[in-house]
Amino acid sequence: MPKNPTPEQRMAWHAGHAANCPCRAMPAGVIRLFVDRGLPVPDQLALHKTADRKG
Ligand SMILES: [Zn+2]
Repeated sequence: MPKNPTPEQRMAWHAGHAANCPCRAMPAGVIRLFVDRGLPVPDQLALHKTADRKG
């Protein structure tokens, strides 16, 4: 992630991270970026902890 990411960069990074890593849920501020744009909030592995974990 760049030092001063744009909202679009944060959304892209967190979407990729949430889909591949269950270490933490997406921050509320990032979720709001999707909601504000009328975009679907990405699925999050962190919310499916019973699925196979990748550390
Ligand atoms: Zn992670």
